[in-house]
Amino acid sequence: MIPEEKDLYTRRAARKKARMRRLKRRRALLIAAMILVFALLIWGVVSLARLLFFRKAVDPASVTVPDWVDVQLLDVNPYSRPGTPLTEIKGIVVHYTANPGTTAQQNRNYFNSLAKQNGESATSVSSHFIIGLDGEVIQCIPLSEISYASNDRNKDTVSIECCHPDSGGQFTEATYQSLVRLCAWLEQELNLQESSIIRHYDVSGKLCPLYYVENESLWNEFKNDVKAYRKEHF
Ligand SMILES: [Zn+2]
Repeated sequence: MIPEEKDLYTRRAARKKARMRRLKRRRALLIAAMILVFALLIWGVVSLARLLFFRKAVDPASVTVPDWVDVQLLDVNPYSRPGTPLTEIKGIVVHYTANPGTTAQQNRNYFNSLAKQNGESATSVSSHFIIGLDGEVIQCIPLSEISYASNDRNKDTVSIECCHPDSGGQFTEATYQSLVRLCAWLEQELNLQESSIIRHYDVSGKLCPLYYVENESLWNEFKNDVKAYRKEHF
C-alpha cells in the first residue's frame, strides 16, 4: 500500500468508528427516553386510579361540627354511648325514630336515660345526630365514637335519626332540608363518596326510614338533592 492510500484508509476507519460511536450514543438516548416516557405513563395511570378509586380517609376526631348543630353529648354508658372508638367513617345511615310526634330533644333525652338501666332486658340504642320536626339538629355522640343504631355498620358509619309527625314516617320539609344539609356537610368533611348515604333498610332490611323504604323514588330524589346541595355549597 502506498502511503497516500494508507492515509486514506486510516481516515475512513476513523470516520466509521466515529459514526458507530454516534449511533450507539443515539440508541442509548432513545432507550433512556423510552424508559422515561414509560415510567411517566405508569405514574400517570397509578395517580389517576388512586384519584378515582381510593379516597383519603379522614380522622373523625379532626372534624369540628358547625354552629347550626346543637351539641348535647350523652353520658358515656354501656347502653347508648359505649365510648368505642370510630376511627374511619365510610358511610351515613339514615333512620326515622318510629315514634311519631316526638321532638329531637325528647329522643336525645330518651337515649341518655338508657344509662340508668340495669338487668338483662336492657335496651341499647342511640344515634350520632337527631333531626327534629322544625329542622333542629342535636348531636348525641362524637364522630370519633360509635353509636348503637345500624347493626353491623355501627363500626364504620355515622347515624342520623329523623323525627316525623305521624306513623307514615314522612319527614317535614324542615327536617328534610336539615337532613340534606347535614348529609352534604358530612360527605364533604369526611371525604365520602357520593354513594355513601344509605338507609337502615339497606343494612338490615328493617323498614327504616319507613316512608323512604316504601317510596324508593323519593329516596333517590333525596340523594340527588344532597348531591346538588354539595355542588352548590362546597
Ligand atoms: Zn333505623
